[in-house]
Amino acid sequence: MRDGMNFFVQRNGLRDLHEKVVAGGRIDESEALRLFESKDLNALGALADLVNQRKNGRRASYIINRYINYSNYCILSCQFCSFARKRRDADGFQLSLEEIVQKAREALALGITELHIVGGLHPSLPFSYYTDMLRALGALDPRLQLKCFTAIEILHLAWQAKKTVPETLAELKSAGLVSLTGGGAEIFRPEVRSAIARGKESAAEYLDVHRQWHRLGGRSTCTMLFGHVESLADRVDHLRQLRELQDETRGFVGFVPLPYQPENNNIPVTTSPTGFDSLRTLAVSRIYLDNFDHLTAYWVGMGLKLAQVALSYGADDLHGTILEEHIFHMAGATSPQGQTEAALVKAIREAGRSPVQRNTFYEPVKVWREAVAGATDPVAEPLTA
Ligand code: SF4
Repeated sequence: MRDGMNFFVQRNGLRDLHEKVVAGGRIDESEALRLFESKDLNALGALADLVNQRKNGRRASYIINRYINYSNYCILSCQFCSFARKRRDADGFQLSLEEIVQKAREALALGITELHIVGGLHPSLPFSYYTDMLRALGALDPRLQLKCFTAIEILHLAWQAKKTVPETLAELKSAGLVSLTGGGAEIFRPEVRSAIARGKESAAEYLDVHRQWHRLGGRSTCTMLFGHVESLADRVDHLRQLRELQDETRGFVGFVPLPYQPENNNIPVTTSPTGFDSLRTLAVSRIYLDNFDHLTAYWVGMGLKLAQVALSYGADDLHGTILEEHIFHMAGATSPQGQTEAALVKAIREAGRSPVQRNTFYEPVKVWREAVAGATDPVAEPLTA
C-alpha cells in the first residue's frame, strides 16, 4: 500500500508533502492549496486515510439522531438559502413546543441519542421559547443530547433578548443545551460571504460565538459550504481559520464539509460539487486539520453511496439517521429524508471499517462486532461499549 501510494505521490510531485505528513508534520496553506490542485485523487485519499487511521483506526461512526426545524421564518434572505420564508409565504411554518416534544417522543422510541435543532432567525419568538424548548426536551430523557442552534441564531437570540453572547450561551446551557451545531460557517472570506449570504454574521462573529461557547466548557462542530462561487484558495483560508480556533480552544469535536445544493436559490451556480471535488475536499480537510479528531461525510449532501466511498478518503463518520431533513432537500438534495441504522452499519462494513454508534461528542455508544466471514446479516449483535 505504501509503495503504491509513493508511486502516485512521486508521479504528481507531492512527495515532499507526503513525507511531511507521514512524519507527523503540519502542512501550511500553500501546501494545502497544492493538495487541492492535485488531480491524483487516489494519492490524496491514501494520504488522508493514513491521517485518519492514525487517529481513529479502522473505526467509522454514525449517530442515531433526529433533526427538528422549529421554524423556517427568517429575517434574512441569504442568496444561497432555499429554506427561509417570510410571514407572507404560504409554506412558512413555526412549531409549537407541544409539536416539538411530540416529534422528540416519537424519535426517542426509535432509539435516538441526539436532537439536532435549528431554525431561521425568527422575527418575534421570545427567548423563553428556546429555553422552555430545551427544558421540555431535556425532561423527556436525561440521556438525550440537545445539539441546537447555529452561531447566527445565537447572535440573533442575544440581540433580541438584549443579552451578551456569553450570557445567552450560559442561559441556554443551563436550560440543557449540550452542543452548538456547526451550520452557518459557509465560506469565511468576506467577498464570498457577501455573494452568497449577505447580511449574515462575519467570520469573526461566527468564530467568536464558538470561542465563547468553548470557554464555557461547551463543544461544537463546524462546517464549510463548498462548491459554489468560492475558489480553492477561499476553502484553504476557511480551513485555516477553523484550525486556528481549534488550536486556541480544542472545542470542536468534528468538521463537516457541506456540498452546496443548487436549487431554489438566488446564486447563479446550477450544479452541486462533483464526486471528485467532494472527495478531494474531504481528503485535503483531513490532512490539513491535524488538530481535529473527526471528519464527517455528510450523506444528505453527497448521497450515502459517495459518503461510503469517503470513508477511504479521510472521513471517519457518516453522520446520522436524521429522519426528517428539510434544509438540503428544499435546495434540491435527492438523498432520502433519513437513513436506517442498518443502512449506515452496512455502508461502513462494506467499506472495510468497524461500525461504532456514537453520541454527540463522537464518543462510542455501541461498538459492533466485526462482521463474521460469510455473514450476510448486516445488523449482527452489538456489543455495549
Ligand atoms: S441561511 Fe439561515 S440566516 Fe440565511 S436566510 Fe437561510 S435561514 Fe436565514
